Amino acid sequence: TGDDMLRRRQFHFAQVQEIYYQQPPQIERGWQHHLIDIRGRSYLDMMNNVTILGHGHPEIAAAAADQWQLLNTNSRFHYEVLGELCSQLSDLAPAGLDEVLLVNSGTEAVDLALRMAGAATGRSAVVTVKEAYHGWSMGSDAVSTSLADNPSALETRPEWVHLAAAPNTYRGIYRGPDSGPRYVADIARQLSELDSRGIAVAAFISESFYGNAGGVPLPREYLAGVYELIRARGGVCIADEVQVGFGRLGEYFWGFEEQRVVPDIITVAKSMGNGHPLGAVITTREIADAFRGEGSFFSSAGGSGLSCRIGLTVLQVLERENLQRNATEVGAHLKAELLHLMETHHIIGAVHGMGLYLGVELVRDRDTLEAAREETFAICERLRERGVIVQPTADRQNVLKIKPPLCLSMSSATFFVQQLDEVLTRGW
Ligand code: PMP
Repeated sequence: TGDDMLRRRQFHFAQVQEIYYQQPPQIERGWQHHLIDIRGRSYLDMMNNVTILGHGHPEIAAAAADQWQLLNTNSRFHYEVLGELCSQLSDLAPAGLDEVLLVNSGTEAVDLALRMAGAATGRSAVVTVKEAYHGWSMGSDAVSTSLADNPSALETRPEWVHLAAAPNTYRGIYRGPDSGPRYVADIARQLSELDSRGIAVAAFISESFYGNAGGVPLPREYLAGVYELIRARGGVCIADEVQVGFGRLGEYFWGFEEQRVVPDIITVAKSMGNGHPLGAVITTREIADAFRGEGSFFSSAGGSGLSCRIGLTVLQVLERENLQRNATEVGAHLKAELLHLMETHHIIGAVHGMGLYLGVELVRDRDTLEAAREETFAICERLRERGVIVQPTADRQNVLKIKPPLCLSMSSATFFVQQLDEVLTRGW
């Protein structure tokens, strides 16, 4: 039964992460933006930011099955889908970012990006912003500052990592979309201080939209200002597009387009494989060349025939089903409806983000911005009872994470808003 399965999981699956919900539904099947449990009950999936095309996409399943039978070997061999995927990714990236390395996850992509930045500069110092998540390996965890994932993140930091203020325009040290220059001035001061200690920076890493904070946009001109400071010192700029990239923003394929910058290294994963483990680093020839010969790099499954075929099919379906446009249209509708809820429900402090990369920040007081953490968990439970899956995110766990598959329909978006409205009206 479902209860036995849950007990077995709790006994044998190392308890290093919490399971969602006090009474978790046992999910059996996924279809588009729906999850179906063992009792046949359907849930609207408002938060799976990996399955960009939706769950159970028949074309991905068919392509995967075909490739499994045909060939699945590693990137030391030459096969068509590998070259094809790398060339399509470099076409999608800005001019000059022509080299691709394939891995299995966002964590690996970030780790590799940090190593490449080290190789290209001969340095190790990295600047990362607070309240960010970039992965769980030694390297990516070191630049992850999210307190939700690791409450002692800011205390146990390797000495090569330097922290910059969280450029959170809603609740950071400076607020509002025009606060960019003030954050940049702070980083300029930090870098001068490092200069005076003889510490040269290898890289700056950030998301282009603040994912861990719940989809808060960076202040205007923030990345342009920071990138200039880093490049003036010979460092490289890494855009972590693992969550925000690949059309989720609707209007922009890449998050950094919104900031009008071009990074030196892009990391991608999640959406790229629609749930199959697949990630990539996209960078310049110069950086890739510097990395060659610096330690080893080979991934047994990264860039396998199977992964590449899935990656290519994801790109094909994304385009043919116009999912980026759907993210723009359904996302705009959803955001407008959520903003409308703010008028009646004072617990909603802000609706962040764009496209289908949204966050509803819940606060006890719109002036003090006191985080409504317990309320957010309770609201998620009530929504689950009503057939909607959504989760708390951000350092204070007070933001409803709304990052559904990009096939989300208008009617499902409306259903979600209605359910949220009712939960907020009736209480949680
Ligand atoms: N970077 C960002 C911005 C992420 O959101 C995540 C995953 N939440 C990662 C890196 C790590 O990706 P993965 O879980 O695939 O290792």
